[in-house]
Amino acid sequence: MHINEKRRQALVEILKTVVLPVVFGIGFFVWLLFLVKTEYKLLFFPLSSVLLSVLYFFSGFIYGGVMLAFLVIVGFLSFFLAGGIVDKSVFFLETLWLCGLFLLYERFRWSYQKLCNSNTEIVEVLETKITLSESKLEEDRSVSLNLNQRISNYQLLGKVVETLSSSLQEEKLIPLIEDLASKFIGKGTWKLKKGFHNDIFTQYIKNQEVPLIVSNLATDNRFAVKNPRFLSLVAVPIGANQRFWGILKGVSTRADFFDESDLRLLSVIGGIASLAITNSKLYQRTQELAITDGLTGLYVQSYFRERLSEEILRSKSHSLPLSVAILDVDHFKNVNDTYGHSAGDVALRQISDLLRHRLRETDFVSRYGGEEFAVIMPQTDPKEAHSVLEEIRKNTEEEKFFLPVESFHPVQIKITVSIGVASLGEKSVGEEKLLKLADEALYKAKSSGRNRTEVLSVKK
Ligand code: GH3
Ligand code: MG
Ligand code: MG
Repeated sequence: MHINEKRRQALVEILKTVVLPVVFGIGFFVWLLFLVKTEYKLLFFPLSSVLLSVLYFFSGFIYGGVMLAFLVIVGFLSFFLAGGIVDKSVFFLETLWLCGLFLLYERFRWSYQKLCNSNTEIVEVLETKITLSESKLEEDRSVSLNLNQRISNYQLLGKVVETLSSSLQEEKLIPLIEDLASKFIGKGTWKLKKGFHNDIFTQYIKNQEVPLIVSNLATDNRFAVKNPRFLSLVAVPIGANQRFWGILKGVSTRADFFDESDLRLLSVIGGIASLAITNSKLYQRTQELAITDGLTGLYVQSYFRERLSEEILRSKSHSLPLSVAILDVDHFKNVNDTYGHSAGDVALRQISDLLRHRLRETDFVSRYGGEEFAVIMPQTDPKEAHSVLEEIRKNTEEEKFFLPVESFHPVQIKITVSIGVASLGEKSVGEEKLLKLADEALYKAKSSGRNRTEVLSVKK
């Protein structure tokens, strides 16, 4: 408040409480003396009562009190000044009446004040109750908000699990997990990184085995990164089959972008993502187990047949040549009989390695039976098939096979294979027919003395 304004208020206060009553009282005193000295003296006290009441009503206790003091003084003065006993008695009684009136007013004022005070107390209690209720309401509202948030998070989590379980292929899961992290955290750019090389953050997480939160990469002395492309980072490790698989990380160009609650949420997503990746790995492994042979790691016959019928269709629709070969190890029973079944297994594994490495990228090799292998050679005519397979046959003949035997040194043996090839010409046949033809070619190779390659083509 301005200083002048304060002064003005103080002056008004003095005027109201001191000057006015004094001036008013003196004036009134003169007027009273006039009344007392004239024949209107009996009007003196009734008029004074009215004045006192008016003053009391408008100004409260102070003016009323001052007036009363004056009146009492005047009353007693008048009492002494009055001539007869009657006048004296009137003045006396009327002075008493004024005091009584004042006391009555005071009594009412006191009761009124008390009532006001008790009302104020009630109002205060009520106000406190209202404040308490309001804060309780606020608390309930925040609890309900929190619960709603949790419910929507759980719903989102349900969706996460549902979405992730909809796919069992790792390459499909990666963008799904990135998308879910982005939706779930609701901010930042997300990446699911496989492996742990060439990335300082992945290496850090892998070594420390804890989630990572970086508020400002430019000032973080754990990572000396010059001109970072982002400032904030939050990341959790992803595991598969209890081994480190990679990290799920979110970044932002703004500093202090992620907080602890983001990290907590991310840890939940990370756990689910790890499960999904583990599942995909298990699924992949199951698939592999279903289509690959346990001893050699080559594809099994059933899968070979599926692929063969697809290749036949493709070669037919594109009018491309196609060859199929069956390789059978010569006199393999002798190997088993001489060196034992497990030594025979070693030999079979070595043969399958040789086939896997010496055949072309486009060829599809499988274990067709016990010591028989089958190869699909797409876009390969009989001549080319013969040349490739002859090379394989020679490689096998030249290969040194070392078999484990009971003595200390493994025994070195020679193995040969007979190969039957069937080629698809312009006339297309089914998979059964083509394999039968390859079998016939193999029989021909066996009956012609083994360690040979025979080719038969489907006739026009
Ligand atoms: P050939 O084909 O030259 O006519 O003579 P072979 O002795 O190879 O022919 P045969 O069909 O009589 O014998 C195949 C042998 O292959 C018999 C079987 O014990 C062996 N064999 C088949 N599957 C396996 C296997 O998984 N492991 C081992 N060690 N031997 C196997
Ligand atoms: Mg055989
Ligand atoms: Mg054989």
